[in-house]
Amino acid sequence: MDPLTAFVFSTLLMLANGAVLGFMHRDLPEALQPSALAWRVGTLTMAGGCLMLGLQLQLPTWLALPVGNGLLMGGLTLYWRALQRFDGRPGHWAIWVPTPTVMLGVYWFSEVQPSLPVRVVLSAVGWIIALIGSALTLRKGRALDHALSRRVMAGLFGALSVVMLVRALYFVFGAGREQTVVDAGSWVNALTPMLAAGVPVIGTTAFLLMCSERLRRQWELAASTDALTGLWNRRTLTERGTAGLHQAKASASSLAVAILDVDHFKSVNDRFGHEVGDLALQHVAQTVLAACRANDVPGRHGGEEFVVLFDQMDSTQAMAAAERLREALEAKPYVRGELSLPITVSIGVAATSPGDLAFDHLLRRADRALYRAKNEGRNRVVLADAE
Ligand code: GH3
Ligand code: MG
Ligand code: MG
Repeated sequence: MDPLTAFVFSTLLMLANGAVLGFMHRDLPEALQPSALAWRVGTLTMAGGCLMLGLQLQLPTWLALPVGNGLLMGGLTLYWRALQRFDGRPGHWAIWVPTPTVMLGVYWFSEVQPSLPVRVVLSAVGWIIALIGSALTLRKGRALDHALSRRVMAGLFGALSVVMLVRALYFVFGAGREQTVVDAGSWVNALTPMLAAGVPVIGTTAFLLMCSERLRRQWELAASTDALTGLWNRRTLTERGTAGLHQAKASASSLAVAILDVDHFKSVNDRFGHEVGDLALQHVAQTVLAACRANDVPGRHGGEEFVVLFDQMDSTQAMAAAERLREALEAKPYVRGELSLPITVSIGVAATSPGDLAFDHLLRRADRALYRAKNEGRNRVVLADAE
């Protein structure tokens, strides 16, 4: 296929790609829509650029070359912007500098001082800036989701920037047989439309994968955490507790669990209303989280009850850890405006014993210890009897 036909073919591929993204747009969550919109407009812009370059023999060159190259560059920059939006990053005007620079430069070096190598190098530099910039944006945000599709796309953009560099060097130092970038029969010219089509087609697939991975993670998080406090929910506590118990048995170590119940919490609701009660529960959750160590697993078991799993701790260590949590809460009243509300908790602690066949059993022992802590006057930690 000669490069000009390939450009037109690429245009059709991109239009189809933009259409697919358009169909999917409505189904994406609102938070991802600005990013998807920039990506879609980027794809259509690149399609416009490809079409211009494909029609360069039909159109005047002063129009086709600068506008075609400018549109490709603009589309690529929109991809960069889409990736920034995907991670919720603010934009910066500087990312738009290469687009008019490439456009004006291509005009100058095709009409005023014609030079094919300078033109190719100029657009290559523009592409490399946008490609590397996009790859760096993807890298910076990797802690957000650790998504594989993110690494695939960063790898793709990195590899493409190397190809652009090689292509530019070829035009500067290579055989120099080509008079234009669309002369047929040259491998490097066949490469150009392939590159222009490859970025949107492969890139859009990777982008959609990134969207679906983001969605999956959001669902997973919603299913495993508590909506009010952001701590793990009961389901996750049971899963992690069951796994921890099995591991403790297999490695002859110990798993400990603490149940915290806020003292006289009903009176908080009765005196200040349910809304303040909710805020006080968030305060308890944050204080517990801050007082936990890296391996502790804090969760909301339900109502005003919290559970913390202490992996590989025996009863003495767990009692000390629970006492630390109790002290942290006692030392930090819930403050809201004029209101300073002292909050204390009673805690029951249990560590695995040979009789604990299921996590539920361990939890029930801790719950009985909690009951004793309440009866003995509250604001204290009580260890479950060994069984
Ligand atoms: P005790 O010291 O014996 O634990 O006394 P208590 O008042 O904390 O115990 P009780 O179990 O009688 O009351 C728990 C209260 O917690 C009742 C309920 O209204 C309140 N509660 C449970 N879940 C929530 C919640 O999500 N938000 C709010 N605001 N209150 C809640
Ligand atoms: Mg309770
Ligand atoms: Mg209570």
